[in-house]
Amino acid sequence: MDVNQSQQFKHRIAFGVWINDFRNDPLKHEDWPCVEIDTQTQNDFKGMMKFLKENGFTAVDIFGFLANHDWPENVHEVVTDERKKTVRKLIKIAHENNLKVIYGLGVYSWGFDSIIKNNPAVRGTSLQAMCGSKKESRQYMRNVVDFVGENFDFDGFHLEVADQGRCRCNLCSGETDVSYFNRLNRETAEYIRSRWPATFLLVNTSGYLPWGDTINPEEYASVYELGKCIDVIIDGGNHGLFIAEEDRKMFIENLPCDYGTSGGFWVYPPQRWDRQRWFLPNFYHTAGHLEKLFMDGGRACEIYLGPLLNPGMELTLWCIGNYIQDIRKNPTAVLHNAIEKLYRPKNHTYTFKLAEFIGQAESAFFNNWSPMRQPGIPEELSDGIQSLFAWSETKPERATPGELFLEPLFGTHPGFPSYLVVHMTPGGRENYKKTLLSLVKGIDEIANGFHEREKVHRIRTCIENVLHDIEAVRILQSSSQKKP
Ligand SMILES: [Zn+2]
Repeated sequence: MDVNQSQQFKHRIAFGVWINDFRNDPLKHEDWPCVEIDTQTQNDFKGMMKFLKENGFTAVDIFGFLANHDWPENVHEVVTDERKKTVRKLIKIAHENNLKVIYGLGVYSWGFDSIIKNNPAVRGTSLQAMCGSKKESRQYMRNVVDFVGENFDFDGFHLEVADQGRCRCNLCSGETDVSYFNRLNRETAEYIRSRWPATFLLVNTSGYLPWGDTINPEEYASVYELGKCIDVIIDGGNHGLFIAEEDRKMFIENLPCDYGTSGGFWVYPPQRWDRQRWFLPNFYHTAGHLEKLFMDGGRACEIYLGPLLNPGMELTLWCIGNYIQDIRKNPTAVLHNAIEKLYRPKNHTYTFKLAEFIGQAESAFFNNWSPMRQPGIPEELSDGIQSLFAWSETKPERATPGELFLEPLFGTHPGFPSYLVVHMTPGGRENYKKTLLSLVKGIDEIANGFHEREKVHRIRTCIENVLHDIEAVRILQSSSQKKP
């Protein structure tokens, strides 16, 4: 490759997130996050690793290889020997595709529910996060690290400490959220490095603060301390970035490790939905964010994956992967390349026409959505995460996606298309519908221009399914307004 390394993101990390989030066949009746590994999981994993290699990603970061909520008291009993073999096989597949495999590790949380329930010695004020001031908690954390490190050939860890809250007992509550979470991450990172010095370490700050808030520059020093013992810090930006953009350049200059985000905007893959139920290509939006991040000195990104069977997802991931290898590229030229490769147009005119269509489909959503959450939505039409936005009630414009949930995250059946309500007004929805109707016509006019007809047809199916959902929202909303 002749790309000057100074023009590329150094850490081009693909984020699973969970082992089944990018599978091509939905788990319609399994609550999220399902960590079962079946034949479909393995096949889609294999397909995704090949895709990531071809599109220049350097690492894949995945949660759920071994556990979701529950490490047992004896952590080595977490999985069967057969599961261990399967996980080793998956790691090998990723390595064969030149990808580092980063193990998604809950730090003091995400995995300790049973241990906390059964063991008062680690319990503070939270049922999901161990007390951060007790030596017993630190020992459990080390037991998990030892088990993962001694049994598997992972290349690194993603440390996730904050997104299930924290302990606020008398011993812990003296520390601010930022310094508390940084301390637990630092202690865990130092322990990992003491055992495996070459391990790649990434900290994701999701949950460090309520969404919409930013880290006070007076607390940057504690982030810099953490930065000395890790490789990358990801300020995901799920609903706003924690490092204020106006301070970012200065922050990055002083940070001992690399800094990155999750690309500004992404669709959280809906685990229980049909893979052709949405159409949200978002490469232009993401490219704009990534370019600014790069200019400010950001050299890492952690890009959320999703099922490649969804054409908007496949195109967006293809384009992002290629763009972050050389950010001097013109995003439209990248999109043209993606179309040539994925849709095999019969001539260049069709490349331009489909690219224009994809741009229009992206604008159809972004011109009509409401980044701010719509207030007063009845529970049954919402995404179930309203409680996370308490801080932003006074500044709702600061807690915006980031991460777009299409259906409620939790549940045991395909959920209501809440994104069309939480992030759209009735007027926006009506405009979105009108534009989508014209896009159906547009895709029909060019469908014959591609060798990959089936793929073009999939785009059409997706748009039709969004139109069905818009109609479903209209019916439900009018019936819920009629309720006394
Ligand atoms: Zn505590």
